[in-house]
Amino acid sequence: MRHKARRAGPNPLSECRRLQREIRLVFDPFTAKHCPTCLTPCCVKPTRVTPVDVALAVGTGHTFPHLNGGDAYAPSVEYAGNRLAPSARSLPMLKGEEAHVLEPCEYLHEYRCTFPDDLRPYGCTAYLCGPMYSHLPEETLRRLRRLIRQLDDTHTSLLRALRDAGKMPLEE
Ligand code: SF4
Ligand code: SF4
Repeated sequence: MRHKARRAGPNPLSECRRLQREIRLVFDPFTAKHCPTCLTPCCVKPTRVTPVDVALAVGTGHTFPHLNGGDAYAPSVEYAGNRLAPSARSLPMLKGEEAHVLEPCEYLHEYRCTFPDDLRPYGCTAYLCGPMYSHLPEETLRRLRRLIRQLDDTHTSLLRALRDAGKMPLEE
């Protein structure tokens, strides 16, 4: 049985990217200030990256040169089985000795995520970390939660559209 698409604009990919840009406007000043000294970094394995996230980025012509010609999908396939694990965490910026303790996400390069800024993996973008809850004002958190709910709806519509077009399966 076909599922009825939930609210989404005529182009769910464009809408996902617009919402991600809006979310990044809030995330970026926060991550610049707090990530370099974070004691519980999130861009470490197991990550929330999925092959679908990679397909969306690659589909727009994006490449991951730091993987040195390796399979851009391989790390996401490895992560896929872990992405719903309770221990999964998401944006990383450890330097020094701690970096050897935690294994960084393969898509992290020179302390930056190598996905397009407006096409980060859905699971990474939808994750509000503990330090955000500790440091961001309640009003900002409410705004983020609202944007993430919209992103969730639009992302689901995008996956359904891709599935209906026969481009990829949808897990439900
Ligand atoms: S958990 Fe939060 S503060 Fe820590 S590295 Fe990730 S985004 Fe930055
Ligand atoms: S894909 Fe990007 S945001 Fe997600 S865990 Fe890896 S480096 Fe962090």
